[in-house]
Amino acid sequence: MVQPADIRSPSDLHLHSDHSDGTQSPAELMAAARAEGLGTVALTDHDTTSGWAEASLAALSVGLTLLPGMELSARHQWRSVHVLGYLFDPDDAALRSLTGRIRSSRLDRAAEMARRMGRDFDLTWEDILAQTAPGATVGRPHLADALVAKGIVRDRGEAFAGILHPASEYYVSLYAPDAVTAVAAIADAGGVPVVAHPAGRSEALPPAVLDSMRAVGLAGLELGHRDNREPELGRLADYALRHDLIVTGSSDYHGSGKPNRLGENTTSPEMVARIIDRARARAPVRP
Ligand code: AMP
Ligand code: FE
Ligand code: FE
Ligand code: ZN
Repeated sequence: MVQPADIRSPSDLHLHSDHSDGTQSPAELMAAARAEGLGTVALTDHDTTSGWAEASLAALSVGLTLLPGMELSARHQWRSVHVLGYLFDPDDAALRSLTGRIRSSRLDRAAEMARRMGRDFDLTWEDILAQTAPGATVGRPHLADALVAKGIVRDRGEAFAGILHPASEYYVSLYAPDAVTAVAAIADAGGVPVVAHPAGRSEALPPAVLDSMRAVGLAGLELGHRDNREPELGRLADYALRHDLIVTGSSDYHGSGKPNRLGENTTSPEMVARIIDRARARAPVRP
């Protein structure tokens, strides 16, 4: 008999599986999350919903509440912006066409980066494919894993600091919609858009851009994330309070692909309830 997680068990709303750049299947991920004592999780693979079906079944069987989600690639001018979307309609035509375009650009970009790296290193496209689950959203982490497998770098971190860094000669950018378009696409699909790690590595989004994102349905900010830094974090916390935004905390777990640990940041039950209340498209899958 499955024991459903206690309603007070912690919620971690930003997890990756091997349908993008995590290292575990959705089922393994749900089992790991339950073993860690989490009660509610969101699967948020980059630019795809292909892991939802497996994750839903696995969440049911281990007694977890699952919020289906995604981390949508976007940009503001030169900087990369990630927008988490929760509980949207996975069949929404506009959103599907947008994610399809991003994933296809990611494939072309990975192939071009592999070609450039192949000029200087013993690395082929087959080496990249060997690190990528069939149909997964491909990204630099898969290129990093291939570099590790070939003994060219020690780990993903070393790859990202050098060969895969945006300043590197091997780097190629990918197509991504601007941040306001990304928020609108999720909101129009009935979902709840939340900016991921909004005070992360590069400088935070200016208030005017956040205002534009709110105007098209931005619901929240992921203030609890290991990449967030002061002073931008404090400024964004003030902004969230002033505009009564949903505030989340999450791990951004990638399995063994990153040091982030399951449940290292969590989201309060009140905030989880606000996300569910705000979604128009789809009820969460409950045990
Ligand atoms: P991409 O979107 O293909 O350019 O790759 C960005 C992804 O790489 C993000 O989703 C991060 O999770 C991952 N990433 C960024 N920096 C690192 C790092 N130092 N180690 C491991 N993964 C990273
Ligand atoms: Fe990632
Ligand atoms: Fe991200
Ligand atoms: Zn992420």
